[in-house]
Amino acid sequence: MCSFVSLSPDGATDLEKHLELLVVENERLKQELKACKTSLLQEAPPPACTATDCPHSQVRVGRINRQLEESKRHAGEMQRQLEESKCQQGEVEQQLSIRLRDCEEEMARQAARPHQVKYVTEIVEVESSGSQQAVAEAQAKSAALQEQLSLQRQLLRELETQLHESQRTSTQLRAQILVYEGEMERAQGQLEAEMQNLEEEKNRVIEDAFIRAESEMKAVHENLAGVRMNLLTLQPALRTLTCDYNCLKRQVQDFPFMLEKAMTEAKQEICQVIGEVSSANQELLRKYKREMNLRKKCHNELVRLKGNIRVFCRVRPVCRGEHDSAENMVSFDPDDDALLYLSNKGKLMTFELDKVFHPQATQEGVFQEVQSLVTSCIDGFNVCIFAYGQTGSGKTYTMEGVAKDPGINQRALRLLFSEVTEKAPDWDFKITVSMVEIYNETLRNLLGDNQGEKLDIKMNPDGSGQLYVPGLTEFTVQSPEDINRVFELGHMNRATACTNLNEHSSRSHALLIITVAGVNSSTGHRTQGKLNLVDLAGSERIAKSGAEGSRLREAQCINKSLSALGDVINALRSRHSHVPFRNSRLTYLLSDSLSGDSKTLMMVQVSPLVCNMSESVCSLKFAQRVRTIELGNATRRQWENSSTTSSPTHDIMISYALCSFRRSFQQAHCFHQMKTAELMPDRACTQMHNRCIQSGFEKCLHLYRKWNLQACSRVVPFHFSKP
Ligand code: ADP
Ligand code: MG
Repeated sequence: MCSFVSLSPDGATDLEKHLELLVVENERLKQELKACKTSLLQEAPPPACTATDCPHSQVRVGRINRQLEESKRHAGEMQRQLEESKCQQGEVEQQLSIRLRDCEEEMARQAARPHQVKYVTEIVEVESSGSQQAVAEAQAKSAALQEQLSLQRQLLRELETQLHESQRTSTQLRAQILVYEGEMERAQGQLEAEMQNLEEEKNRVIEDAFIRAESEMKAVHENLAGVRMNLLTLQPALRTLTCDYNCLKRQVQDFPFMLEKAMTEAKQEICQVIGEVSSANQELLRKYKREMNLRKKCHNELVRLKGNIRVFCRVRPVCRGEHDSAENMVSFDPDDDALLYLSNKGKLMTFELDKVFHPQATQEGVFQEVQSLVTSCIDGFNVCIFAYGQTGSGKTYTMEGVAKDPGINQRALRLLFSEVTEKAPDWDFKITVSMVEIYNETLRNLLGDNQGEKLDIKMNPDGSGQLYVPGLTEFTVQSPEDINRVFELGHMNRATACTNLNEHSSRSHALLIITVAGVNSSTGHRTQGKLNLVDLAGSERIAKSGAEGSRLREAQCINKSLSALGDVINALRSRHSHVPFRNSRLTYLLSDSLSGDSKTLMMVQVSPLVCNMSESVCSLKFAQRVRTIELGNATRRQWENSSTTSSPTHDIMISYALCSFRRSFQQAHCFHQMKTAELMPDRACTQMHNRCIQSGFEKCLHLYRKWNLQACSRVVPFHFSKP
């Protein structure tokens, strides 16, 4: 009974195990079949193939064929395995049917047995108790066997079910294999058709290519024939070219020698031209120097004729809030811009200056008259421009001006910049600026750091005889912005030193010293000019008003320095051997800018107010004194008397008229010289020359007529009424 169903250690029977193996194998075969099918589908040929794809298609067809072979082989393998598994299954079936038969026999035997046992039991029951026990045991055994039997039957049923199942699976697999085989056959058919198509396509493409190649070949042959023809015609051209090439080669070989020769000739020519140019240059330079000297001479002459010391007068307008009937006090001559009339206590006083500016004169207009002086500083002249007059007469306005309408100081620096820039290609200029204040005869550096420091004026130790101020700050200015910065610093320093700037500034002299040093880049010629722009302290006579203490000292210092200035100018004009420069700090500091061929302009400021009448008279007298110096001592004195005493004689009038005429004539002569030197256009010179002579005559005639009228009318002479 135990050998009938052998159980494996894990509880499964051999049959079960075998069945499992079969199932697994079956599954694997299914998988492989599926993979084959997929690869077949993937390898299905494309719908159409172009002529150019032909070789590639052939390769593909070969590959597909190989795969088909492989698939067939695989299918055969599978078939074989299936056959084997069928065999195995048949064997298993056979074993199972044998076992089933054994089991049935056993069962039949077992069925036959209980009667025996029952019989034995009955006997045993009857016979003995021992036998009864044996019967009981036998019964128990029989029950156990019965149980085992039912178990075996159940197992048998299960095995039968499994057998049916595997038979069914096997049938299914067979059907599937058939299906796959059908599919494979179909795919093969398709492949073959495709291959045939491709083969046809290939043949067609090859034919086409062959035809094309033939026609191309024909064309190439034709071309070749053309090229051959060309070659034949080109040969003579080539021969000519070779000839030319050889010729050129020879020329190239000769070229360095020719070049050298040409260069030598060119060098000689250039040297000759350079020599000519340099000699022309020398000539030009000589002419330029001569012209420069002539220009300077003419300028000097012009200045000399105009006078090295010129006196202008500017009458300021009546300002807002000043109710004064000023119009009757100051009057001007419409024909002569050099005359100013003051009516003082019923007397009309006449002052002749170089130029009188009306109250309406603009800052620009005033500057136009002084700009020639400013520019002469570039030519190396020393120039002084003084603003003289009582406090409130407009000195600071004329020199500094207001922010919107700057005065001479700022305009001069701007003009210098523009002139220097114009000359820049030939000249290298450097403009430096210093600002000094003279208060109570002490010098203060307005651009320095230490405002408490008092400066001294010393003789330059280099033996040049020039004066210098040790410790005086000098700023080099290069732009209008620099000027503004310098002015700001100067003002700030001036303001910090006092409590009331207006009052303080009226009692001190403010000097702006501009030095212009230049070097001519071609000649190496050097120039240095100095422009001193001085806003003088108020000229009012404070001492007479009984000032005391510090006010008195201030007044004395101002008086001293202003009279020293007058004396110095007087001495210079009169060509005295001794000029009292050292009498004041102001004149000492400016000594080199006042002496020699330096130029001075005194701008006398006059207030139009009646209340300022006496100071205005004083200022104008000072101006007159300074100006008339140039007319010569005798004449000056007489004229001085005539203008203030209002009793001119006929001789004085004649002398004055002649003097005036002489000046006009000298001016005319100057224009004539300019014409000769070709410094001005011909026509302009002639015009100016004629105008000077005409104005000289007219002035003379005008004065004579005036005198004659007065003489005839026997009115107090020389009280000119306005024409
Ligand atoms: P000073 O420096 O002689 O004491 P200011 O220059 O300070 O005098 O002038 C006094 C006043 O008169 C200032 O308010 C100034 O603006 C004005 N002033 C002077 N001259 C003119 C002018 N030409 N045009 C307009 N205002 C002027
Ligand atoms: Mg002032």
